Amino acid sequence: MTCIFCQIIQGEMPGDIVLQNEYITAFRDINPAAPKHILIVPNKHIASTEDLHRHDSIIASELLLAIKDVSSLENISQNGYRIISNCGSHGRQEVQHLHIHVLGGAPMKYGLG
Ligand code: 5GP
Ligand code: ZN
Repeated sequence: MTCIFCQIIQGEMPGDIVLQNEYITAFRDINPAAPKHILIVPNKHIASTEDLHRHDSIIASELLLAIKDVSSLENISQNGYRIISNCGSHGRQEVQHLHIHVLGGAPMKYGLG
């Protein structure tokens, strides 16, 4: 199985990593949709939120807790940001490795929808 995010996590493909610990890796999106656009991914290959199970609850919590670590590192804590996780075809998920987008650095142009 070839997964680009697994390759970035394992250092087999270049990635602008901003944070990495035992559970998660955060790196810059290659095609940023905001001045600050970071992807937070579990180090374990989990395809989407539909594949995230209670036996991986530590990973789930570490993914959420990493948001604040990233916002602090990227200096977007004070003004805020948006988090998005696309799932499946209706969610327009393109990379089949669970990721949370952290978008910040400027006000969002649109509300949800
Ligand atoms: P999705 O549509 O699956 O929620 O988002 C996938 C994101 O991954 C997109 O924003 C896209 O720009 C980003 N992406 C795709 N390939 C790469 C890559 O090789 N490196 C990095 N850093 N980001 C990527
Ligand atoms: Zn993967």
